[in-house]
Amino acid sequence: MLHRLLTLFSHPLTRNKLSILNYHQVLESPDPMRPWEPDRVKFDWQMALLRRHFQPLSLIEALDRLEADTLPDHAICVTLDDGYLNNLEVGVPILKRHQIPATVFVASGFSNGENMWNDRILELFANLKNERINLEAIGLAKPELGNIATRRSLANYTITQLKYLPIAERVQTVNTLYHANGNIPEQRKMMRPEEISQLAAAGVEIGGHTHHHPILKGMSPQEQHQEIQQNKMLLEQWTGKPVVGFAYPNGRFGKDMDGASLAVVRQLGFRYAVSTDAGYTHKASNPHNLSRFTPWDNQPLRFHARLISNLVSRLAARN
Ligand SMILES: [Zn+2]
Repeated sequence: MLHRLLTLFSHPLTRNKLSILNYHQVLESPDPMRPWEPDRVKFDWQMALLRRHFQPLSLIEALDRLEADTLPDHAICVTLDDGYLNNLEVGVPILKRHQIPATVFVASGFSNGENMWNDRILELFANLKNERINLEAIGLAKPELGNIATRRSLANYTITQLKYLPIAERVQTVNTLYHANGNIPEQRKMMRPEEISQLAAAGVEIGGHTHHHPILKGMSPQEQHQEIQQNKMLLEQWTGKPVVGFAYPNGRFGKDMDGASLAVVRQLGFRYAVSTDAGYTHKASNPHNLSRFTPWDNQPLRFHARLISNLVSRLAARN
């Protein structure tokens, strides 16, 4: 009942507006080191709610219909970033069950079995064999790890310390941290090329996300071009389909990418590109800087209310 009222009252305010949701992982079971990532149960009710109260569309169809002034009311798109294997194994069956189209933006440099640096940090801090952790590589002592909450906050602190380092230095520092703390075994989290191809064959749109997942801002236009083109080329080769969408790594305009990045993406022929700046998309939005947001709520009515509030907020996409 409350859900229906939300839909009804928001109706005139949400017309001709599109929400693009931004997920990363769909976990097999909840992970206390990553409380922000939905597990299969949460993702399932969220997708059921989208199917029931919204009009889920593929991003390309939504953009076509926005252009043609035929966007249905409560249009919504689902995207997932980075290329996690659980998107294929856990996410696809749920998306299929609720008939929700989706786009997965893949950073191709992690298709060789290597995990992303932020996941490697989380795993290192989660490892219960380590009671203390040697952080000399980032100029800290050897703090006690303690319970999961302490581990999580220390790991996130370390991630913020490393996030804006040049890639080679970032990877080197993570390797040094692993070396200093017993080189724990790592489970592969990212899709290999054949799994990316399976995901595309399952009807999921594959979009670009650079090769190494760098922060584009501050890199030369030539370096940005190289990162984005190599990624596009590999994904097209693996899937046998054109790659027309792109997601900026980290994705904040002005902080992680800027006008120079938009120009490179446009030059490479991408039809659209998405950021992580919150807001909705409308007809006048810049197609190479579309807003997205992550609804993190654990409770269906709050989740629904947040989806509506995104559409009625003043946070229109940048023009
Ligand atoms: Zn990413």
